[in-house]
Amino acid sequence: MKTITAKFGGSSLASAAQFRKVGAILAADPARRFVVASAPGKRDSGDTKVTDLLYRCYDLAAAGDDFEPVLDQIRERFAAIARELKVDFDADAELIPIREHLRTAPQRDYMASRGEYLNSRLLAAWLDWPFVDAASCVRFAPDGSFDGDTTQKLLSEALSGLERAVVPGFYGADETGRVITFSRGGSDVSGSLVARAAAADLYENWTDVSGVLFTDPRIVKEPKPIAYITYRELRELSYMGASVLHEDAVFPVRKANIPINIRNTNRPEDPGTMIVPVLPSGISPAPVTGVAGRKGFDAILVEKSMMNAEVGFGAKLLDIFADLGVPFEHCPTGIDTMSVVVSDSLFAPHKEAILREVEVRLKPDAVKLEEDLALIAIVGCGMVANKGIAARILGAVTAAGVNIRMIDQGSSELNIILGIDAMDYETAVRGIYAEFYGK
Ligand code: ADP
Ligand code: ASP
Ligand code: MG
Repeated sequence: MKTITAKFGGSSLASAAQFRKVGAILAADPARRFVVASAPGKRDSGDTKVTDLLYRCYDLAAAGDDFEPVLDQIRERFAAIARELKVDFDADAELIPIREHLRTAPQRDYMASRGEYLNSRLLAAWLDWPFVDAASCVRFAPDGSFDGDTTQKLLSEALSGLERAVVPGFYGADETGRVITFSRGGSDVSGSLVARAAAADLYENWTDVSGVLFTDPRIVKEPKPIAYITYRELRELSYMGASVLHEDAVFPVRKANIPINIRNTNRPEDPGTMIVPVLPSGISPAPVTGVAGRKGFDAILVEKSMMNAEVGFGAKLLDIFADLGVPFEHCPTGIDTMSVVVSDSLFAPHKEAILREVEVRLKPDAVKLEEDLALIAIVGCGMVANKGIAARILGAVTAAGVNIRMIDQGSSELNIILGIDAMDYETAVRGIYAEFYGK
């Protein structure tokens, strides 16, 4: 029998009405055997995600302040869903150990994980499916890093005898049982782990949009959905800010060649996006598959004549960053210039030290610092075969009145990265969209 792992995001499980949509989706296909659930998300734009309430509770408890009003809001989110669905789920009783935890030695990750834990318990009770706690089968090493091999072993063992199961997303635990979470949006990663462990034929990721869209729908109104995208393209887009799928969610399923289907819980009839190892035959790549970006970067531009002839110049420059533990994002070079693009938050604490070391170790002719940049990634596996694409992109951004400060074409020719002033970010994205798909 076919097996599907279905992950439902926060907005898909934010209320009783959303639970009912999830129930209908599961009932529509019995192959949907393993469900990964997020914590309740926002019910409307003014709402707060349960995960954010849990972090707030932790902060209050850690500061010795009164957390009860926030804890009560959390209790009410679960109680309201249980009440409306008439599920036997006692939110008051469930909160007793959590309150106790907050009063004694609160742990940030443990608190954050309770949203997924409780929502999955609630969903499992409503569906009358078994619940499998991620703390017992998603494994982290003692240093907090994720342990993929042990997870695959434990999780496949846990699921092997089960016809169906609900597994909470976002967290796991180390050998001692200490709960550890992935970074925000990490239930996508959990879904991918469960899909791999269950040797699923498909990983469905149910959210509030009808697939991966050409670009962020908060910038361009109703951007075109992408029907097919490769793992590599998706990874580039999600790393660069397409928050629809967590940037690490591709890895587990990619190992097992399991395609991902991004679907809309509010429009289950839409086919969504298929994320695949390679495009199926007959589907030719679009000139540009998608565009994503992030703000909050700085670039250090170093100029020195005859730089190219100086053996080890680039290594010496990058060593400065490595020595101070600052990872770099990009490193475009010219004949006599080299830039290092870094995330502002990681660079800021070391700014003076880095600039000083550059002067001392490299004796450059000039050093320029460009702050407050945004990076835009224009991604597409069809770009390499299509020589005019780069020219169209640059033309569109310039025509939108945006000054391009940096251009970097990845060596895989899967993407072009542009550095621009952060304030021009939205204008540039809209310009690129209009060039390829009209206004
Ligand atoms: P979930 O709670 O289901 O995990 P997320 O909020 O994490 O959902 O991800 C879905 C959101 O990602 C969308 O509502 C949209 O605002 C945002 N998003 C950003 N870039 C894109 C994109 N290129 N395509 C689709 N959605 C995007
Ligand atoms: N609930 C977590 C978050 O808000 C994880 C997730 O939704 O994927 O980040
Ligand atoms: Mg998400």
